[in-house]
Amino acid sequence: MRRKLIAGNWKMNGSTAANAALLDGIRDGLGDARGAVAVCVPAPYFAQCQSALGGTSVKWGGQDLSLHESGAYTGEVAASMLTDFGCSYVIVGHSERRTYHGESDEIVARKTSRALRSGLVPIVCVGESLEEREAGKTDVVVGRQIDAVLNALDGSELEKIVVAYEPVWAIGTGKTATPQMAQDVHKMVRARIAQKNAEAAAKVQILYGGSMKPDNAKELLAMADIDGGLIGGASLKASDFLSIIAAA
Ligand code: PEP
Repeated sequence: MRRKLIAGNWKMNGSTAANAALLDGIRDGLGDARGAVAVCVPAPYFAQCQSALGGTSVKWGGQDLSLHESGAYTGEVAASMLTDFGCSYVIVGHSERRTYHGESDEIVARKTSRALRSGLVPIVCVGESLEEREAGKTDVVVGRQIDAVLNALDGSELEKIVVAYEPVWAIGTGKTATPQMAQDVHKMVRARIAQKNAEAAAKVQILYGGSMKPDNAKELLAMADIDGGLIGGASLKASDFLSIIAAA
């Protein structure tokens, strides 16, 4: 039985004052959540998460990492800097990074390896555009994205990744994949992992992301291969994030 994971993706939102209220709200409202909970925040707020969440069951992480260990890479944040501030997770290959920063499947695969080698759990994002879905190419596109990552990892690393299926047309749009649409892609992703390592495939958490909200979380999270959610907008409001956590 896979444990559910609800991870927030704050994107480029926050301020120390707003974060303090949000983190306190999450921490204090958590109760005895069954699943695992994490927030992926902008790098300047890692220290704030460390002091607000250290010693609680809520983990924190980044939204990207550098391919490089250290050196002359202005503006980049190294994996070791994330672990220095107690991060457990890092989002890799979010569609906003693929689109706005030209991250290819190859870069995403290399970043996934870098995260694993640094002791971080990568949350690897895959997902098709609306055009690709309408052209019937969802499995081809998502299959290509996940295979690039799987081919870069060795057998023992496979079970350490988290995958997030995030249809690009559902991110921040209020449009959600139906539970069955999401389940079909999750099942396909798990089958791809099983081709490499069946044991790992049974363990890997595959999250759904794309306008998951308190009112649709329960039915999405009830699907056999949906092991949690990567939550954007709804992770910025403690009450909404807590409702999704309670549905897991
Ligand atoms: C995301 O960006 O990872 C995401 C799922 O966003 P939203 O929940 O706002 O659609």
